[in-house]
Amino acid sequence: MKRAIKREAKSMPIDATTKVVGVIGYPISHSLSPQMHNSAFLHLGLNYVYLAWEVEPSNLKLAIDGVRGLGIVGLNVTIPHKEKVGEYLDELSEEARMVGAVNTILNKNGKLVGFNTDVEGFRRALGCSVKDKKVVVLGAGGAGRAVVFALIKDGASCIILNRTEEKARDLAEKFKGIGEVMADKLTPSALKRAMQEADILVNATSLGMKGESIEGIEDALREDILVMDLVYNPRETPLLRIAKEKGARVVEGWRMLLHQGAYSFEIWTGKKAPLDVMENVLQKILYGV
Ligand code: NAP
Repeated sequence: MKRAIKREAKSMPIDATTKVVGVIGYPISHSLSPQMHNSAFLHLGLNYVYLAWEVEPSNLKLAIDGVRGLGIVGLNVTIPHKEKVGEYLDELSEEARMVGAVNTILNKNGKLVGFNTDVEGFRRALGCSVKDKKVVVLGAGGAGRAVVFALIKDGASCIILNRTEEKARDLAEKFKGIGEVMADKLTPSALKRAMQEADILVNATSLGMKGESIEGIEDALREDILVMDLVYNPRETPLLRIAKEKGARVVEGWRMLLHQGAYSFEIWTGKKAPLDVMENVLQKILYGV
């Protein structure tokens, strides 16, 4: 009897009216989203369930047909489907179109709309106005595109530094009609030059995931720069450690993960996400705290 009560408190009963959302990716077993969203649904007493489906690239269209056929309310989309899935949807948000990637789908009475919640997730995680600020963005991959779009849309000017210079230049070219954006190759001297004028530094490369530092960063950082690292594992990357040692303010990468998830939750449910619940789940899974 005691056990049954305990189980009831940990999950909502699934019934014929339960709404289904979930995530597709390949692979998918590492995803933190099921725990984060199911805890949030439970906390608010919403009759939703969040599942994870491993979808091979050759089955992507079938999976999206399944969303339509089964009336699945919404999806998160992760690697490797984010760039391709837009082809199978009915409408894209401005963010998804401009960034060229969809990470959230809403089934709006049979019409599938694609969003990119990394853009808003980044904004909320950074948590300050960027209007007229000068921002150095390291990286020109999927995350870099979302970050640069959010920044210039909100009135910042950006310089993108990337290992492969051509990708940085292509990105600057794509966004130049929206705001001021420049590009250069990521080298210690280009970093130092760009940082002399900067108010904010964002790392949107994968440097730091294996404990690597960014060459030349020690020399380029100052205490009056706000530093955000999108890498969230480890929690304190070498970049963030050096920034703290310099006395700079830092934003850790898990905040963006939290806020992009919270925004997806809002898109599906129309309700404000319980941030503290989602944050607790994330911190527990990622850092064991
Ligand atoms: P991606 O599309 O594969 O892009 C990777 C970026 O990192 C490219 O700019 C790449 O440069 C650069 N890079 C990789 N290895 C490098 C190296 N050894 N030296 C210099 N630059 C290097 O990946 P992504 O989706 O943009 O993700 C980038 C990072 O952001 C990942 O660590 C990811 O986990 C993190 N992220 C976090 C969040 C969050 O919510 N916190 C969200 C999205 C992504 P090249 O163009 O030269 O290859």
